[in-house]
Amino acid sequence: MTSLIILIIIMIKQGKDNLRKGDNKMECPGCSNKRGNKRVEGLIFTCAKCGAIFGQTYLGDSYKYVKPYVATKAVPIKRTRYYDFDCLSSKGLVRRHGWYDTETGMITQIG
Ligand SMILES: [Zn+2]
Repeated sequence: MTSLIILIIIMIKQGKDNLRKGDNKMECPGCSNKRGNKRVEGLIFTCAKCGAIFGQTYLGDSYKYVKPYVATKAVPIKRTRYYDFDCLSSKGLVRRHGWYDTETGMITQIG
């Protein structure tokens, strides 16, 4: 439990440092774009260039953006976007990243 609290403090500090460094514009892990990226909420951002969604959040909150399920039907590539989250979970920090369907929130490719 103590380690979880320390992790939270580190994440908040890192997030603030990144915000300061990036002049409130986090760098997109998908295409490295820094310009015009918008904050969705907290430390979650969308990329102005490729439409990726990325940032730091709680694992459960990340499911709001990308569900923990893989799409069962083929999804047109145009409808997919990159996602990359650092998530705080009961097991510590976990990374969720890959491609997802912007219409259904289902994962189309992991990693
Ligand atoms: Zn991007």
